[in-house]
Amino acid sequence: MPSSPRPAYQATSPPADTKCDMRGCCSVANVRVIIPESRFTADGIDHSKDPSTFDACEWHWPAMRDACLRNGHRIVDITGDIRQLSAEFPRCNIFTSDGGRLYASAPLNGFAPDTTVDAWLAGQLRVQLEQLSVPASSERVP
Ligand SMILES: [Zn+2]
Repeated sequence: MPSSPRPAYQATSPPADTKCDMRGCCSVANVRVIIPESRFTADGIDHSKDPSTFDACEWHWPAMRDACLRNGHRIVDITGDIRQLSAEFPRCNIFTSDGGRLYASAPLNGFAPDTTVDAWLAGQLRVQLEQLSVPASSERVP
């Protein structure tokens, strides 16, 4: 086990149309990891060539995240805080899956079953919740 904590990796949204950095993958990236400058040399790897960011699509991000965590890195979501999101959307049931995916279940005035949206980052989940903008009941009548 590492004895001293290493700088956390920061997860955020990549710019629009950013492609996944995984070799051979041409999907649009959903998550950008900002990797802190590493001074860790005990693993014998030359970190001076480390990329400072890594963009991953929604298929490759879970594996990337898993690898980071297994190597003892913390990943901090810098787009927001899911507890803050829960406070802002008290009618939504917001939770995190074991794999780190964020879910929000939003009631839509009883006209439809709860709508569940999901994202990898709190900031992305917030956007989806804002887009849902739980409609007034009059708007639902044809
Ligand atoms: Zn990918």
